[in-house]
Amino acid sequence: MNKYLFPKKKIREECGVFGVFNNDEAASLTALGLHALQHRGQDSSGIVTYFQNNFFGHRGLGQVSEVFNDSAILSKLKGKNSIGHNRYGTTGETALKNVQPLFSEILTGGVAIAHNGNLTNTNTLKEKLIKSGSIFQSTSDTEVILHLISTASGNLIDRLVYALHSISGAYSLLLLNKNSLIGVRDPFGIRPLVLGKLKDSYILCSESCGLDIIGAKLVRDVQPGEIIIINNNGIESITPFKKTSLRPCLFEYIYFSRPDSTLDGRNVYDVRKKIGEQLAKESAEDKDLIDIVIPIPDSGNASALGYSNEIKKPFELGIIRNHYTGRTFIQPTSRVRNLGVKLKHNPNPSALRNKKIALIDDSVVRGTTATKIVEMLKNAGAKEIHMRIASPPVKFPCYYGIDTPSESELLASKYSIEEIASYIGVDSLKFITLNGVYNALGFPSGRDPNNPQFTDHYFSGDYPVRLVDKNIGKKPSQLSLLIETK
Ligand code: AMP
Repeated sequence: MNKYLFPKKKIREECGVFGVFNNDEAASLTALGLHALQHRGQDSSGIVTYFQNNFFGHRGLGQVSEVFNDSAILSKLKGKNSIGHNRYGTTGETALKNVQPLFSEILTGGVAIAHNGNLTNTNTLKEKLIKSGSIFQSTSDTEVILHLISTASGNLIDRLVYALHSISGAYSLLLLNKNSLIGVRDPFGIRPLVLGKLKDSYILCSESCGLDIIGAKLVRDVQPGEIIIINNNGIESITPFKKTSLRPCLFEYIYFSRPDSTLDGRNVYDVRKKIGEQLAKESAEDKDLIDIVIPIPDSGNASALGYSNEIKKPFELGIIRNHYTGRTFIQPTSRVRNLGVKLKHNPNPSALRNKKIALIDDSVVRGTTATKIVEMLKNAGAKEIHMRIASPPVKFPCYYGIDTPSESELLASKYSIEEIASYIGVDSLKFITLNGVYNALGFPSGRDPNNPQFTDHYFSGDYPVRLVDKNIGKKPSQLSLLIETK
């Protein structure tokens, strides 16, 4: 059977976007911004700029520093306006066609697009578009948006509004044409997008840490359902949707965003520490149960600090992380791998020998990380391990842009907490409650079931945007399957 017929890992958008308007060093600033947003996607990166009736682009597989590894590349990306993208997707040659920003010449001129998020009606739209003659060059859902823009009528904004009314899902988009930089956030603001200013230049990017690296100031978050158009006349804002309400992705706070970012008015680090405090409050008996608190670095760091402060037990670095294991690391042969090579984490026995440990991580998905780490800590002499998780059990897949496996691979959708504890091999296991997370985010009454303040389907099963594609999360439709096999 053709190995591409049923790709094991579906392409998922889990990305970062960065755009600059009106700066002589637009491409270099964009490369720096993408570097700060590298945690949002490490598989590929690209930048498109505009200068005197021409668009210039450079895209490639790998991290920002690998793709833009020569100053000559950046100096070829001329112009004062640019957009860039970091992508998390499949590895290998087939991914090259999906590297963003995508670019097309349409009736209104050239347009480049970069997307963070995931559409839930890609296959449905793609089928219609292919039947009416569209030719797709990639398997990315972003190209669907480009086709909708191209086949609509009017100016670029009219066409964009038409496209936005046709798509559903999660999206923070940047578009670049000859005279403007455009930013869009979906009607629930599921993925983040912020507006910044650097002297006379404007920046649009996924997270505020992208502004910090270039010395730009955070102006505000792009509002749910808002289109921001930046051109030589200044900034214009349009909201083409009848109903919008801010319901950002909870996982951005729990795991995905950088802790030094501020999203929709909340600093991610502060939120994670508060989640840790709440986790400890929900498990008050831990005071008598444990000696020290150890995070799984880096994902558990901030919540472990909050937990340790609340429970008044010392925070120790019992696991040391190696930061130099990138995608490009040459995989050892299976013989060497079987020796138990600890590529990413190594225990620090002096901190944990004979100790009763509260082990903190942000989440359990398949349970792979926790199982490996627990075995490692036990071999290093830990006396007891009590695992505390700074999110509720992940029971439902995400179709809005975060890479989670299908339900059958999610530990918490199949097993009870006790069963998970025994699978992972810990002495006890607790997850924070969903209401506890909402408390930590500043809602003392917890989650409002009639009007939830966040997108939290992975915990609650409540998907705010309709999952239109019948085969969502499963195999691609017949038509996209054909494309996938080329
Ligand atoms: P697992 O090992 O499958 O249980 O996944 C949980 C671990 O992966 C935790 O240590 C998280 O910090 C990390 N994690 C959570 N969500 C994601 C994601 N979307 N992509 C990559 N890693 C993640």
